[in-house]
Amino acid sequence: PAMEKIEIETLISAALKARENAYAPYSEYAVGAAVMGADGQIYSGCNVENASYPAGMCAERNAVGAAVAAGVRGFTGMAIVGSEEHFTLPCGICRQVISEFHVPLIITAKNKENYQIFKEEELLPHAFVKENLKES
Ligand code: ZN
Repeated sequence: PAMEKIEIETLISAALKARENAYAPYSEYAVGAAVMGADGQIYSGCNVENASYPAGMCAERNAVGAAVAAGVRGFTGMAIVGSEEHFTLPCGICRQVISEFHVPLIITAKNKENYQIFKEEELLPHAFVKENLKES
């Protein structure tokens, strides 16, 4: 599945907007993410840190969670924006969540013009999936 350039730019814009609301007083590393549901709707998230560090949540998982809460189960892509100096990639736990919901394309962007696109299986090959639960 491919994404139109306009869809990519729209997703990046949503991620940039979400990043403005990041709550990252500890790392001071603001991240915004946005996913496009199969219905074309966009759901965004930012990182939300906590004084108890492990209680913090990544932007990517917050975006997927917002979509899931709205009833979305199919996705066409995700955009992530962290630093404007380098490309921000999802952490390992977020890659697992991206795999769970089969987000096929992951766009990491410095801005609307400068981005890279990865396929889900490139970011997490040999993912742990529900079929693995049935293997004894
Ligand atoms: Zn993460």
